Amino acid sequence: MTLETIPKDLRGLRACLVCSLIKSFEQFEYEGCDNCDEFLRMKNNRDNVYDCTSSNFDGMISMMSPDDSWVAKWQRINRFCRGVYAISVSGRLPNGIIREMKSRGIVYRPRDTSQR
Ligand SMILES: [Zn+2]
Repeated sequence: MTLETIPKDLRGLRACLVCSLIKSFEQFEYEGCDNCDEFLRMKNNRDNVYDCTSSNFDGMISMMSPDDSWVAKWQRINRFCRGVYAISVSGRLPNGIIREMKSRGIVYRPRDTSQR
């Protein structure tokens, strides 16, 4: 694990719309999302960072041991890398990216649970 998966700054934080990982805008731009960059391609792509992450999120979970955490299972983040995750993320992924995920066999589940 590297420290790059943990937010460096408390300002300008954004959460990934797919996996809810929280990092700063710059981290998403420099490193991409540690779980989803294969299809979100945010690395060195500011537009994709804006499209695929949201600054509007609620709650934070620090996940250190995803495999044996019931919270991680509850949040459906137990298959992701260690880091800080949001409980709910507002915003919607662009349709083109949802389609691309589908073609890779990944089901997109919106991370916005605040409305329920
Ligand atoms: Zn992600």
